[in-house]
Formats: sequence, C-alpha cells, structure tokens
Amino acid sequence: MKPPKARPKALAKRPAVMTGAFIPVLGWPPDEDRVEAVFERLCRVMPEPKTELNFSSPYTLVVAVALSAQATDVSVNKATDRLFRVADTPEKMLALGEEGLVPYIASIGLYRGKARNVIALSRIVLEQHGGEVPLNRADLQALPGVGRKTASVVLNELGIEAAIAVDTHVFRVSHRLGLANAATPEKVEAQLFRVVPEQWLPKAHHWLILHGRYTCTARRPKCSACVISDLCPSRPDLVAMGEAA
Ligand code: SF4
Repeated sequence: MKPPKARPKALAKRPAVMTGAFIPVLGWPPDEDRVEAVFERLCRVMPEPKTELNFSSPYTLVVAVALSAQATDVSVNKATDRLFRVADTPEKMLALGEEGLVPYIASIGLYRGKARNVIALSRIVLEQHGGEVPLNRADLQALPGVGRKTASVVLNELGIEAAIAVDTHVFRVSHRLGLANAATPEKVEAQLFRVVPEQWLPKAHHWLILHGRYTCTARRPKCSACVISDLCPSRPDLVAMGEAA
C-alpha cells in the first residue's frame, strides 16, 4: 500500500466550518497588487456575472434566494419554474397557502420550514410594505427566513449595496487565494471587505461563487484550467498533494 502523501504545512490546518475541501490557512492580508490582478483577470473572463437563480422581480428573487439555502440553484430553478407561473406575487403566494406551496418545493431540502417562511414573509410584505419587498438591509433581514446572507445576495444582485455573501464557495476560494484566512463566514466577509478593491466589490461575490462552482471546486480543483493559477498561493501545495486536476 502506498504511504499517504504528506500534507504541506500551509494545508495543515483547516477552519472548523465548511470543510469537505482542502482549505489552507495562509498569511493575511494579501499583496494588494496580486489581489488587483486576480479581480482584473476574473473580470476579463466573466465581465457580467449574474446569479444563476431565475427571478423576475425583487419578490421572486427573495423567494428564490430563501429557497436556495442548502440547495442547488438548479434544483431551486426547477421548482420556481412551476411555482412562479402560479404565484409570483405576495398576494398570489398567500392565496396558494402553505399546503398549496409545499408540492411545488417538496424536491428542495428543508421544504417544510421554507414553505412556512415564504408564506410568512409574503404576509409581511403585503401587510407592512404595501406588497413591495423592502430593499434595505434592516427590513429585509426582519423577514422570516431572510438572514444576513440572503439579504446580501438580494441587495447585491439588485445593485443596491455591494455585499459579499459568504457561502461555501466564497469561503473556500477566498482561503485558497489568500484573500481571507478567518474561520467563520462573518469574519471572512469582513476580511474580504478589507482587501477587495472598491471597484471590484459589486461583482466580487459573483466572481468568487462562479469560480468556486465551476473551477476551484471543493474536490479536484481545476488548477490547470484556472485563469488565475499563476496568482494563486495554494496551487503548488494542491498540485504537490495530487489534489489539483
Ligand atoms: S489555481 Fe487551483 S486552487 Fe488556485 S484558484 Fe485556481 S483552481 Fe483554485
């Protein structure tokens, strides 16, 4: 039996959350020129990054993002494709009711709780906000099922606030690129706001998610096809460990 490959020093520790991937703990803050170059490069290959969730209004965006917690965008789109044909406003959602909503979203994880939240948030939007989703952080986060991450995605997607919602992809890619080295999503978000140049902030969230989803994947990141591989401090270690594709 082959002896296991030694884990390089930089990869010796992993933050306690969002594991399932080799996540290095590098020095921080990173070199400013390198960070600038990373985002310039990502901008060149993805000039107009967008969410992959389908929506047609702030209301359908909030519902789609709330449904996407611990579910893939593909699975949410499959469900909302049918759902939004019958209920794309708070009024129609309330008319559908919780029991009527459940069959549309039953293929998504945690659907019972999500159905309860979507109905409750629709009632609040209708009764307290005149049927329009409130587009400020405080009121958004006061809606059932809408936490800081969901509010950040909504505000960023609608161009209201440059926000970075740290999901598993953003967390992993930020660590591998040395943009952050903190152990919690909240701290990683704060570090990203410190190091990402202002001009790149509005799109940084999308670039990091899409790069993590398609290239810098949790298992076997596609380092040989990565447009920022020459700027990535983790690549040599991942290659040495036989982890990089
Ligand atoms: S070189 Fe590899 S580890 Fe670094 S960002 Fe690219 S895919 Fe991720």
